[in-house]
Parts: sequence; C-alpha cells; structure tokens
Amino acid sequence: MKQARFCFYLCALLLMTASALYGQSYPRFKVLAFYSRTVEKAHVDFADDAIQFFKELTVGNGFVFDTTSNMEDLNDAKIKDYQLLMMINDFPHNQAQRDAFEKYMENGGGWLGFHVAGYNDKTTNWPWFVNFLGGAVFYKNNWPPLPAKLTLDDTLHSITKGLPHTFISPVGEWYQWKPSPRENKKVKVLLSLSPENFPMGIKHIIKEGDMPVVWTNTDYRMIYLNMGHGPHILTDATQNKLIIAAFRWVITSDKKGNVIDR
Ligand code: ZN
Repeated sequence: MKQARFCFYLCALLLMTASALYGQSYPRFKVLAFYSRTVEKAHVDFADDAIQFFKELTVGNGFVFDTTSNMEDLNDAKIKDYQLLMMINDFPHNQAQRDAFEKYMENGGGWLGFHVAGYNDKTTNWPWFVNFLGGAVFYKNNWPPLPAKLTLDDTLHSITKGLPHTFISPVGEWYQWKPSPRENKKVKVLLSLSPENFPMGIKHIIKEGDMPVVWTNTDYRMIYLNMGHGPHILTDATQNKLIIAAFRWVITSDKKGNVIDR
C-alpha cells in the first residue's frame, strides 16, 4: 500500500516536472523581417548576412523568422501576428505602410531597426518617425566605411551587460545625427562611437560631435542599431552578442508577456 502511494506521488512529481519543462509551446514568437534587394550593394550584403544570422537562431524551432522584400506586407492583417518587425535595410515607403507601422508600434509592437532603417532627412516628412527615433535626423556619415571604437553608455542594461566597456566594431558606415537623440529625455543611449575615432574618414570626414550608435526610445518597444553597412558587420563575436541581446530584449519587453523567460 505504502509502495503504491509512493509510486503515485513520484509519478505526479514526474508529470509536473515534465509539464514545467515541456509545457512551453514552440515556436515561442514570430518575427517578420523586411529587406530590399534594390538598394545599395553594401546594404544588400548586410541583408543577406543578417537573414542567415537570424535564421540560424531559430534552430530547434524556437521562433519563426519570416522575411519579405515586399513592403506592401506592412499592413494590419499581415503584421498582427508578429511580436517583432525587423527593418534590415529598408523602411515604409508610402502613407498606408507608415500608418500600419505607427498603429503597430503605438499598440505595443516590437521593432529592431538597423542602419538605413533609421535614415530620415528634410525630405522624409514623417514627424511621427522622427519622434519614434527620439528626434534623430541624419546629419552626416564617414566615408569610406571604417572600423570604429565603440563605448558602452550603460553597462547594466540587459543589452550591454557583460560586454567589454569598449570594443572595435567591424568596418561600417557611421551616421551622425542632428539633433542627437541623446538630447531627448525619453531616449536611453546604450552605445556610442568613441571620440577617439575622430577625425574619422578619408573622403568624408567626421571631426567631432556626439555619435550615439545604439539606443531605445523608452516610449516604445524598440531598439535602433546604426550597424548594417557591408559584409563585415556580423563577423565580430562581441558585436553579435550585442545584436542578439538587443533582439532578445525587444521580445522579452512585450507588455503582453515575456515569451522567453517566463
Ligand atoms: Zn550605409
């Protein structure tokens, strides 16, 4: 009798452990990555690498990584089931796409944008997007693309925790913004280009000024990373760790629930 009862408890315990371990259904979340093949070659090169990089992270069916080069997919019906929209080397093209993106983000959607995805200038005429980026407007870039020393602004944030306080980022084209998003109280800058890089460039030279590289506008579930130019971006383990941490942070900050750590 005692043995039967022991067996019952043991079986119940095993079942509870099994459901705790395997109760999570997979895939845990869905990502839709937008990219273009009709942009400058260095941005296409990055897209090819980034798609392979993120597809490799889906191993074991942890999450779905869908890609599209059709910006018309940026509509309510298509994006509603995705927990993160990634802009690898492109941005919304017309008003309908802009409207769908605004609605998605204002309702708690996730965004990870690289390099040209944040580009905007006097001709963009999209005030919502400038505000979304924390006020950043493109000002200038170095040329040719160069490696750069980056410095952490925040060593405790889950995106930068554990990274070296400075590291050399692979060859890239770096943007300077005017105004700098750092001037916006809602922006948290995580990583900046070190002033030790100045003067930076051979054809186009950046001599001075603030250069935030990775930041979030705390009003949104978003991270912007200035990396994304050329075929070398994903060749550095430190930087790859940062990119994965940024991706993970956008997913785990979902107000509808943390699908990774719960
Ligand atoms: Zn570029």
